[in-house]
Amino acid sequence: MENEQQKNKFDRREALKMLSIGSGAGLMGMLGSMPSAKATEIPAYTKGMAPVKIKSVKAIATAPSSSNLIVVKVETTEPGLYGLGCATFTQRAVAVVTAINSYLNDFCVGKDVDNIEDMWHGLYVSSYWRNGPVLNNALSGLDQALWDIKGKRANMPVYQLLGGKVRFAVPCYAHASGNTPEAVAESVQKFMDEGYKYVRIQQGGYGAVGVNQKKPDFKEAGFGGETDAYMDERTYLRSVPKIFKTVRERCGDDVELLHDIHERVQPMDAINMIKQLEPYRPFFIEDPFSPENMEWFKQLRASTSVPIAMGELFNNINEFKMPMVNQWFDYIRIHISQIGGITPAMKVARLGEWFNVKTAWHGPGDVSPVGHAANAHIDLAVWNFGIQESVRFSEKMQEVFSGCPTMKNGYMYVNEVPGLGVDINEKEAAKYPIGTKSNWQVRKADGTLIRP
Ligand code: MG
Repeated sequence: MENEQQKNKFDRREALKMLSIGSGAGLMGMLGSMPSAKATEIPAYTKGMAPVKIKSVKAIATAPSSSNLIVVKVETTEPGLYGLGCATFTQRAVAVVTAINSYLNDFCVGKDVDNIEDMWHGLYVSSYWRNGPVLNNALSGLDQALWDIKGKRANMPVYQLLGGKVRFAVPCYAHASGNTPEAVAESVQKFMDEGYKYVRIQQGGYGAVGVNQKKPDFKEAGFGGETDAYMDERTYLRSVPKIFKTVRERCGDDVELLHDIHERVQPMDAINMIKQLEPYRPFFIEDPFSPENMEWFKQLRASTSVPIAMGELFNNINEFKMPMVNQWFDYIRIHISQIGGITPAMKVARLGEWFNVKTAWHGPGDVSPVGHAANAHIDLAVWNFGIQESVRFSEKMQEVFSGCPTMKNGYMYVNEVPGLGVDINEKEAAKYPIGTKSNWQVRKADGTLIRP
C-alpha cells in the first residue's frame, strides 16, 4: 500500500516536471518516450513559475510635505523587478529605517518573494516579542512590497489578486476646517461643489478650540515646552454640536458629516457630547476614547446609536477581535503602515463582514502615496467597505512619487498598472530629508498632558 502511494506521488511529480518544460515534451513523456534532457528543478509549489528571490530590502526616507515618510524597497533576483511598501511611522521614522535596513534585510535576503503569508508570519515572530510599532511598520512595508511584486509578476493590479473590484472607484471623505462654524460650513460647501458626498468637520484642529483666545495658564507660568499646544476641553465639548448644527443648516442633508474626537476628552464627556449630535445624523464619530479606555465602549453603545469609528492606534490585529465581535464600533480605522500591511488588513476586513463592521482605513498625510494606494486596492476589493479618508498630494509629493491615486468627484482611482501602481524617484526623495522632532504635547490650562 505504502509503495503504491509512493509510486503515485512519483508519477505525479514526474508528470508535472515534464509539463513544466513545455507541452510538446510533456506530451512525448505522456506517450512513453522519456525526454533525454533533465528537467530544471522547480519547486512543485511554484506551479511552473520560476522562483524569484529577495536580493535586498532597504528603507527610503523622505519628507516632501514635511511629514516623515518611510518606504520599503524590496529588490529581487529578477533584473528590474522590485516592490514598494509604506512603512511610515512619522514620529519615530529613524527607528523604522534602522529596523528595515538591518533586521528586515537580514531576515529577507534569499527568501522566495511569492510566499507572502509565510514571510509575514515568519517576520512577525522572528523578534519573539511582537505587537509593537517600529517593527510592525517595517513588517507593513515588506508585506505591501511583496504584494506589489506579486501584482507585477501576475501582470495585474493588486485589487485583482484580492478578489477583483466590488465597486468602480473608492468613495472618500475630505477634511473641512475653519476657525468658526460658519467657516467650516463654507469649507464643506466647497468640497460638495467638487463632488464630495462625505466631509469630516473640525474647528481649529483637534480639540484646539480656544487656543488663540488667550495665553493658557501653564504658558503664563512658564510650564511645559514652547511649542506645546493648549486644549480647553469644556470649550471643545460645547463647540462640536454647534459646528454640526451650523453645517447641517447651511449645507443641507445631502452630505455625510464625520468628526474626529481624537481621544482627547474624558470618556463620559465624549459620550454626552456624542448624544447631543444625534439630531444632525453624523456618518460616524471617530476615536471617542483612547485605546486605554476600551471598556467604555459598552457604555457608549448603550447610550447612543451614533455610528462609531475606531482603531487607527491599534498595533496588532488581535486588538480588533473583541471590539468587532462585540460590535462596539461600526467602522474599523486601520493604519496600513502600522497594522502589518495588506495581509492582516484583509483578515480584519473579512472579519468585519460577519459582524456588519465596515472599513474606513486611515488615510492621513503621514501615509505615503504607496500606502494610500494599498488602502485603495483593498477598498476596491472588499464588500464591507465603508469610506476612505483622502488627502491631496502636493506637487513636491508627486515629483517624488509617480502613479499616485487620483481623485475625481469625491472618488479615488488607482493607477491601473500591475502591482500597487506607485513608483518612487529616489533622487527626488533624497532632496527631502526626514527629521527626528515630533511634538504631540497637548496640555490643559493647568499644564496636565492630554493623551492625543
Ligand atoms: Mg483619527
